[in-house]
Amino acid sequence: MKLVADYHIHSTYSRRNHGKSTIEEIVQKAVEIGLEEIAVTDHGPAHYLYGIGWNKIKEAKDKVLEMREKYPEISILLGVEANILDYKGTTDICDEVMRYCDIILCGYHVGALFSSVGDAWNFAVMNRIGRKNAAVFEKMKEKNTQAVVNAMNKYKINILTHPGDKIPVNIDLIAMTAEKTGTILEINNSHSHLNAEEIRIAAKYNVKFAINSDSHIKDNIGSFARGLKAATDAELDLTRIINLK
Ligand SMILES: [Zn+2]
Ligand SMILES: [Zn+2]
Repeated sequence: MKLVADYHIHSTYSRRNHGKSTIEEIVQKAVEIGLEEIAVTDHGPAHYLYGIGWNKIKEAKDKVLEMREKYPEISILLGVEANILDYKGTTDICDEVMRYCDIILCGYHVGALFSSVGDAWNFAVMNRIGRKNAAVFEKMKEKNTQAVVNAMNKYKINILTHPGDKIPVNIDLIAMTAEKTGTILEINNSHSHLNAEEIRIAAKYNVKFAINSDSHIKDNIGSFARGLKAATDAELDLTRIINLK
């Protein structure tokens, strides 16, 4: 079993050195390990710590176009890992992103510039309180799920990244929505979601999965052992993972 594509890679286009490798270093590494396709996906611009600058997306695309000429043996996509910004499901998928990106990933991140103080309060504080209070946990789980579902309904999201990471969500409802919207669910190799139990729940629906490295340095590109173990533990039909061969 071999990973043939990695759709979640951070580069030096992230702010604050979040991604350590340049796009060219990423491409070279991907070619070296025999990947057929990659996507360079820095955080969306509304991630105030690590997002790609609003004015850098075109520059990143130009770099990708240059790399396509130089390394024709591999397919190179530009994407972003967009951020969920409020409970209505607003994200930082904007015109600039849609214009230059070939693939859209989206996930929940703590470092996002949330739309309002109320959203920040719920995402950051109430979810924390929920860790120690079962009633709050259940309430927040329902609310968080609605935020993700709203985002999936509002935007064309190709891959939903690490569902269930950082905040609790109802995977059943998310997978049901993913079936409807054609969104691929990520088995993230760097975070522990989807885990085996979540994969088992999601697999009841007609959805596809992708194992991605979420690498922040070139040496991690294409790593998929944890993701594959979660999938096999869940007894998932591996042909449903789009980037395994
Ligand atoms: Zn992420
Ligand atoms: Zn990421």
